Amino acid sequence: MASDGGDNRIDLHAHSTASDGTLSPADVVRAAVSAGIDVLALTDHDTTAGWSEAMRVRPAALTLVLGVEISCRWRGVAPAIPLHLLGYLPDPEEPRLARALADLRASRQERGRRIVDLLSADGIDITWDEILQDAAGGTVGRPHVARALVRRGLVATVDDAFAPQWLGRRYRPEKVDLDVFEALDLVNGAGGVAVFAHPRASSRGRTVPDELIVDLAARGLAGLEADHPDHAPAEREHVHALARRLGLLVTGSSDFHGTNKTVPLGACLTAPAAYRQLVAAARGRQPIGPYPT
Ligand code: AMP
Ligand code: FE
Ligand code: FE
Ligand code: ZN
Repeated sequence: MASDGGDNRIDLHAHSTASDGTLSPADVVRAAVSAGIDVLALTDHDTTAGWSEAMRVRPAALTLVLGVEISCRWRGVAPAIPLHLLGYLPDPEEPRLARALADLRASRQERGRRIVDLLSADGIDITWDEILQDAAGGTVGRPHVARALVRRGLVATVDDAFAPQWLGRRYRPEKVDLDVFEALDLVNGAGGVAVFAHPRASSRGRTVPDELIVDLAARGLAGLEADHPDHAPAEREHVHALARRLGLLVTGSSDFHGTNKTVPLGACLTAPAAYRQLVAAARGRQPIGPYPT
């Protein structure tokens, strides 16, 4: 085993049932081991609730990086553009961060109810209880509604439910997200390391201009997630080049969601050097496990 982690498989973005993944945190850890992953980050949407279960079942050889994916918005244009900020190794009890995450989860619940109401108004009888039951106490997301639409036979797959005539546009009331600069300050204030998730994933909707990333870098953004399943090759190259220009670290990750998506763990990986840079930037928490040595 190389002590510099030269051969390690490092996947820094995965979801569990604590948000919109389909595997429990324990099963995500087990799946990571099966996939030959050496370093795994658990990054559920707007919650750190899956961390303790993942820690409990972590085998000695797996390194766990505790993280969170924060729902943000950039208000530099109208309407504001939604985006995701990954926060690695923050103190989950830092009060301002914890409060902000709780508010985001509340806003997700409210939006979830409104989606159900909109569907009901059009004669589609999905109940809020059913969504809550499927979310099982985790952060509610559109994938939970998508699964209900699949169960009704209204769409064939979760992916199809994100088409414009469904959750992609027609049944997509807004939720209240954090201003991206505020989220960045909160992550850094909690001793964490902030990485902009899938910044050029145009398949998800509008993307932000590079000028915003320049401003975020000046404010303390540490890295960009360049290698991501939703980035086409040209988009990955663009993000790599931008990161080089700004001196940001670059991550690669699967954004695993269990069977809510078709992407397997380890579909994209982070280079060991970038991972070490990320860990070195964390103040407070450290990864749990053997890497980096
Ligand atoms: P939300 O954060 O609740 O608005 O929902 C966005 C989430 O839905 C993303 O984090 C993905 O997990 C998921 N998602 C978005 N687009 C798709 C898609 N086309 N297929 C499957 N899941 C998707
Ligand atoms: Fe998700
Ligand atoms: Fe994301
Ligand atoms: Zn994600």
